[in-house]
Amino acid sequence: MIAEKYLKIAAALDSEPSPTFTIVIPVHNEEGSLNELHNRLEDVMAQTGEEWELVLVDDGSTDHSAALIANLHEIDPRVRGIGLSRNYGFQVAVTAGLDQAKGKAIVVMDADMQDPPEVILEMIERWREGYEVVYGVRGQRDGETWFKKATASAFYRLIQRITNVNIPLDTGDFRLMDRRVVDAIKAMPERNRFLRGMVSWVGYQQTGVVYHRHSRYAGETKFTLRKMVRFAMDAITGFSYFPLQLASYLGFLLASMSALAIIVVIGLRLFGTDSPLMGQATTLVTVLFLGSVQLICLGIIGEYLGRIYDEVKARPLYLIDQTWG
Ligand code: UDP
Ligand code: MG
Repeated sequence: MIAEKYLKIAAALDSEPSPTFTIVIPVHNEEGSLNELHNRLEDVMAQTGEEWELVLVDDGSTDHSAALIANLHEIDPRVRGIGLSRNYGFQVAVTAGLDQAKGKAIVVMDADMQDPPEVILEMIERWREGYEVVYGVRGQRDGETWFKKATASAFYRLIQRITNVNIPLDTGDFRLMDRRVVDAIKAMPERNRFLRGMVSWVGYQQTGVVYHRHSRYAGETKFTLRKMVRFAMDAITGFSYFPLQLASYLGFLLASMSALAIIVVIGLRLFGTDSPLMGQATTLVTVLFLGSVQLICLGIIGEYLGRIYDEVKARPLYLIDQTWG
């Protein structure tokens, strides 16, 4: 009986050998892109001559994305899909996809074809040369406002300066990862996820390929300014203690300034000039200034505290509503 059962399982496993490549794509209201995306990927992946699968993660879409994923799975069994119970955001959606991926190398990309599928071939080549992580470096960028480009550029440079992991400049989440890297990422339970940082933290051999980032094929960006600020905060708090140290730096700076001020005040007193330093306004401004600095420092501590609270609650990262395949 038992032997029979295991034979059946083995047969089932045999009939579904794990593919060489998995492409993980988070989807949030991308009905305009999905079919074209599948076509382009099919063309590109055919050139590798290996087995591949596509994992689409429906991140609480409110359009017809879920139906399209179901349909793609019907016509092409290499397409699998999971539907999350609500919108969890890009980072969690990608994590959910990585949890499902069976490939030996896993590629993460956007559904909007801003990251051209053809670049995957170049990534695969690097992977075959022995690199565990091949990230896409954005060369030219089309269809993005100067504001987005400027803030993104400032963000990457700030992160580079204040964090202790070396996150390559101008890379997004478009990248290929070896199975080993994905397994390492899956073992990291953190809630406020900043995947680019986590991938850099893992280490191994990493390299980049420069590509031309096109404008969106359809729809519009899901990243509002608010979401980007949140994301930047997650990145900074997740990988740096610098903001916490800022309080001590400010403290030392202000203490030295006060010491100087004391000398100045004593000098003015001794030489009897009637100085504006003595007025009420001075006191008021100083107190308000110090009060604000203290509130900001409290806020910074609050940011870290809130994240510790998230970790301690240890809720599941996401819930799956339905699966296709
Ligand atoms: N996305 C998601 N959940 C979200 C927001 C975005 O799964 O809450 C997906 C989206 O469908 C797309 C990818 O994440 O495939 C990147 O989003 P977008 O293209 O809007 O970001 P941008 O390229 O403008 O930074
Ligand atoms: Mg995009």
